[in-house]
Amino acid sequence: MRFRFPVVIIDEDFRSENASGLGVRALAKAIEEEGIEVLGVTSYGDLSSFAQQQSRASAFILSIDDEQFSSPEDTDKAISELRAFVAEIRFRNVDIPIFLYGETRTSRHIPNDVLRELHGFIHMFEDTPEFIARYVAREARAYLESLPPPFFRALTHYAADGSYSWHCPGHSGGVAFLKSPVGQMFHQFFGENLLRADVCNSVDELGALLDHTGPVAASERNAARICHADHLFFVTNGTSTSNKIVWHSCVAPGDVVLVDRNCHKSILHAITMTGAIPVFLMPTRNHYGIIGPIPLEEFSEESVRRKIEANPFVRGENKKPRILTLTQSTYDGVVYNVETLKQRLDGRVDTLLFDEAWLPHAAFHDFYGDYHAIGADRPRCRESMIFSTQSTHKLLAGLSQASQILVQDSDMRALDRDMFNEAYLMHTSTSPQYAIIASCDVAAAMMEPPGGTALVEESILEALDFRRAMRKVDEEYGEAWWFKVWGPDYLASEGIGEREDWVLRSGDRWHGFGDLAEGFNMLDPIKATVITPGLAVDGAFTEPGIPAAIVTKYLSEHGIIVEKTGLYSFFIMFTIGITKGRWNSLLTELQQFKDDFDRNQPLWRVLPEFVQRHPRYERVGLRDLCTSIHDVYRRNDVARLTTEMYLSSMEPAMKPADAFARMAHREIERVAVDQLEGRATAVLLTPYPPGIPLLIPGERFNTTIVRYLQFAREFNSTFPGFETEIHGLVDEVVDGELRYFVDCVR
Ligand SMILES: *Cc1c(COP(=O)(O)O)cnc(C)c1O
Repeated sequence: MRFRFPVVIIDEDFRSENASGLGVRALAKAIEEEGIEVLGVTSYGDLSSFAQQQSRASAFILSIDDEQFSSPEDTDKAISELRAFVAEIRFRNVDIPIFLYGETRTSRHIPNDVLRELHGFIHMFEDTPEFIARYVAREARAYLESLPPPFFRALTHYAADGSYSWHCPGHSGGVAFLKSPVGQMFHQFFGENLLRADVCNSVDELGALLDHTGPVAASERNAARICHADHLFFVTNGTSTSNKIVWHSCVAPGDVVLVDRNCHKSILHAITMTGAIPVFLMPTRNHYGIIGPIPLEEFSEESVRRKIEANPFVRGENKKPRILTLTQSTYDGVVYNVETLKQRLDGRVDTLLFDEAWLPHAAFHDFYGDYHAIGADRPRCRESMIFSTQSTHKLLAGLSQASQILVQDSDMRALDRDMFNEAYLMHTSTSPQYAIIASCDVAAAMMEPPGGTALVEESILEALDFRRAMRKVDEEYGEAWWFKVWGPDYLASEGIGEREDWVLRSGDRWHGFGDLAEGFNMLDPIKATVITPGLAVDGAFTEPGIPAAIVTKYLSEHGIIVEKTGLYSFFIMFTIGITKGRWNSLLTELQQFKDDFDRNQPLWRVLPEFVQRHPRYERVGLRDLCTSIHDVYRRNDVARLTTEMYLSSMEPAMKPADAFARMAHREIERVAVDQLEGRATAVLLTPYPPGIPLLIPGERFNTTIVRYLQFAREFNSTFPGFETEIHGLVDEVVDGELRYFVDCVR
């Protein structure tokens, strides 16, 4: 496999017709004759953006000559430029070869702290260009050769080998596609390499994911080292599967389990599949609909015991919770101090599972301190095992479904890997996708410090720059309305500031979660909730009112897709793939929106695609539409309703697994919304937004939830195109009228 990584030469004479120019071009030509491309530039330009070239280059040659050292001032200038450039590169990359190329007399001017970072000092007139080129090429190749982590290395070698295969997949390295016109299109779109690398698990030299052998196992060990875990397992079916694996490895029917009420649905599936008895911990919520932390008191021995004793399905002596699962980083970016939780829970719960689907970056930057599960120098629990499940694909550079399970053993117990693997096998396809395994491998290797740390730092910095830019716009508009970004009032004026700036403090108004324990939670700044006007943090409606659903429709017609939309807020993330262009475009589109709103532009003009699907809005003005939806929200006090329904007490009529079994046996019936109160649901009921399950199989409908469903029904018929989606709700047209039902146990 040949990769394109040019040697970058920086020399102000690169294009000059003088001796120095001729010399450096002769060197460039000799390097090209060694089979490596050369990129010649004449200045460092903008330092930090040029240093980004480190990800595309195989070596740097920085040229200096005696002229630059002719006076003390010139010498200082040359040295400080050189030092700054080398530091920029080393901030991200400690390994890429850097050579100095100059006249003999200059070498003695270079201070040690710069020399130390170099791979060599090339004397312009001592050796032939050919000799120097061979030397540079050797170092450049050795550097490139050191880059690929074990599995990716083996896979690229295998794909390049061109062996004939008799094993599946049946497309045989892509050949089958070439025999059909539409197959040809597929082949051209995805390219040869993806298909050559799509192999089955009978290729010995690649190792096996399901048994954790060979290069796959070496990669998992490498990732474990990088992530500071005792064990690490790649998972190719998402963190949904990672969660189920961890649960099945330690939970059996009838076990008591402690679960964050606002957990991901995969955890609720795990409860249903294992036959566990869930005891829920209740997070706070503010009136923006943002989920806050579970208060520290909820974890106390007393509070947990009371809940277990109140649960009608807990029998006998089996009352010790087998597992606790927390959403570590809620969907809005709130995280917990893991050491505080370990101190409280060690020995009281066997396994602490932190669902870090949104937090795989935290281990690579000091900024996050103890606010993530597993990292460098973190103490072990005495008894409890720590697990973290991470969606590599959500915030790091993984392909969709790339996920990993991290384990930290306790002092008293090490993970039994063979037993754990029985649960792993139960949920893993016997034909895993090798491109996803390779992306797990590469995503971890990318996070190796200092490169990974630099990537995380950059995303925090961009996130803060975005927040600062939004505030500046707000200041310029003065009294006029503008969007706000949810977060602490204090924002460092430059740089990334400090962790302490982001800790949620008791009594701070901005978060709306009331009293919180000291140092227990922080907000991850790379998760940004943008608040639209219309709703105060205390739940009061204000003017003007701009429901977020309209803003995000507007954005999406202009090519900006957000992660999640709430009533008066929407959510964006600054992943390691963020660029300045991306967030600046968002900012300018928001300004366009403000303009169009203030001028009440008709929808045919500002939302043409939407109006094509829903012509009834053609002549409606943008502001008029916002105001009419705002009025309906206000009339129904929706902010309070949606907050209360999540906090209302949910009464379980049976275990989730038993309710689900009723469905498998068809012992259910479709119940109309108006008749739901008191009935036990057989399915998960999940409103979008926020996409958090509201009712779990076996739980009864209460008044608040029924009222919410009635509201959603009315709203959806009044504003087609802005429907609140509710998974679990079945719609049927009865006598020409759209009606909603839920499958309940008989
Ligand atoms: C997305 C998500 C998951 C599931 O992850 P996938 O990789 O999409 O399967 C689990 N937990 C939480 C909190 C999530 O947000």
